[in-house]
Amino acid sequence: MSEKMPITGLSAVELAAFVAEHGEPSYRAVQIFKGLHARRLRSFEQMTDLPSAFRQKLNEIAVISTLSVESRYYSEDGTRRFLMKTADGMPVEAVFIPSEKRDTICFSSQSGCPLKCDFCLTAKLGLLRNLTAGEIVEQIVIVLNDIYGVAGETPHGTNLVAMGAGEPFLNFDNLLKAVSVMSDKDGLFIVPNRITISTAGIVPKIIDFAALEKRPNLAISLSAPNDELRDRLMPINKRWNIDAIMRAAQVLERSLRRGERFTFEYVLLRGVNDTAAHAEELAELLRKYRLKRVKINLIPHNPAEQLDYYPSAPEQVARFKRLLESRGVSAYVRRPRGSDIYAACGQLAAKQEANLVKITASGRAA
Ligand code: SAH
Repeated sequence: MSEKMPITGLSAVELAAFVAEHGEPSYRAVQIFKGLHARRLRSFEQMTDLPSAFRQKLNEIAVISTLSVESRYYSEDGTRRFLMKTADGMPVEAVFIPSEKRDTICFSSQSGCPLKCDFCLTAKLGLLRNLTAGEIVEQIVIVLNDIYGVAGETPHGTNLVAMGAGEPFLNFDNLLKAVSVMSDKDGLFIVPNRITISTAGIVPKIIDFAALEKRPNLAISLSAPNDELRDRLMPINKRWNIDAIMRAAQVLERSLRRGERFTFEYVLLRGVNDTAAHAEELAELLRKYRLKRVKINLIPHNPAEQLDYYPSAPEQVARFKRLLESRGVSAYVRRPRGSDIYAACGQLAAKQEANLVKITASGRAA
């Protein structure tokens, strides 16, 4: 017997083909797609609009769930961190970040990460493997169900950010496939402009991305204004340096539609890249390449025991931001969320047990 088909990553069209192979009409595929994504059902039994014989058959030929939730951590600020595992035992993490206006789910594109960014804890894991489109979509479904219940309404929509573990542009096809499944109006219906991809600067993929018709927002992690420093902090810079990134950013900027902008992320590391001279150098870089439709997201470093970096002091962060603004660059400071449960940027894969309140499936502290 052949293996069961994991169907959460299939597009509506692929699902129709799968259903047709098994002699069922295409409207059944629409029912299944809506069941999986719009209603976020986790078993075929729950799809009561399908005939019971077909539900039974689906159990034999297909599988909905390939990720299991290992543990959940709840932060004082409402952030929730989810540790999951793939069917072959690879760790996957996602984070739910509530806010008054709109919640955000931060998801992973890879298990582990091959890039060796010196300030990031996930880097210590190395790459385990790329996640499938289905495993990417499933993270979102699992998180939404945990917050709102299976088939529950999402009260005010959700933003998605590919800022969990992994380098999304090294898993480009699966990532874009997941984006297209998640934005389907018969499904989760999270439209691309509510989704942000963050890349460490895989230049050829930035160029490919710029050519896409329908696409999410892009953030590029810069974190240093010169090659000498960036080589040290982000070794990927030896492959594609700042000049290559800036030229790709020019291509991206030319492809933006009206009102769109893109982002450079800049992790502020105390005494390393956060001085007034660094801020000037960064502003000068944007001027030199004539990049205008860009904003800078300043991310004070989230520390961890295994990392030799510390966050810049708040006054230093404020000064860095002011200096950029005085040179006409829009800059924002990202407030760290969920750092008490190691859910903040670059902390995933950190302490899984120690000092954390683990929440059991019943929602009580274990
Ligand atoms: N690989 C992608 C996406 C994952 S990281 C990328 O590099 O963009 C998402 C963001 O968190 C990146 O901007 C990264 O530079 C930042 N980051 C990594 N470690 C961090 C840390 N310890 N504190 C704060 N931000 C961190």
